[in-house]
Amino acid sequence: MGRGRPESQDLVNESTINVAGLLQDAVGGKREYGIRLDAFALADDLQAARLGGIVRLTRLSDVILASVRLEGQVHMECVRCLRTYVEAIRTRFEEEYRPTVDVRTGGHVHVDRTEEETDELFEINELHELDLGEAIRQHVILSLPMRPDCGEDCPGPAPLARDESEIDERLARLGALLDGDEAAEVAAWRP
Ligand SMILES: [Zn+2]
Repeated sequence: MGRGRPESQDLVNESTINVAGLLQDAVGGKREYGIRLDAFALADDLQAARLGGIVRLTRLSDVILASVRLEGQVHMECVRCLRTYVEAIRTRFEEEYRPTVDVRTGGHVHVDRTEEETDELFEINELHELDLGEAIRQHVILSLPMRPDCGEDCPGPAPLARDESEIDERLARLGALLDGDEAAEVAAWRP
């Protein structure tokens, strides 16, 4: 993963890259990194694991373009059997990051785009750090299935209580709460 390239290093359990050097490159300058995130929180109750892939950064005239390819796993709950299973995920995305502080002068950087366009860009912080974390979080979530399903071996919905003695017991308890005709009706429901 990028080893042997003088300009590259791997990101291991971190998603932030210092881009001070790349910001001083000519337009078209590139960097490439391998990335590995052993555990990555997507939301309060949603975790990705073993994310791995490639990050390519390209210096454009006013922003840095990040092109990211990732594979990994997300622990999800099957909609049918409600068991937790491992969903294999794969995502590929591009996002633009705008500098906020000029790397040479330290002054504020204006991006020549509409306000609306500017709002859609991620920001490189004042220390010239580009953090891929939020983009990774959003794109991994987008890659998840709408109806998580544990697959061919899914046992299906958990069976309802079919044990007759259990049913009898419940009806008896319900009957005890009722009186007269209602109790008789409950008794009539018995299978
Ligand atoms: Zn299932």
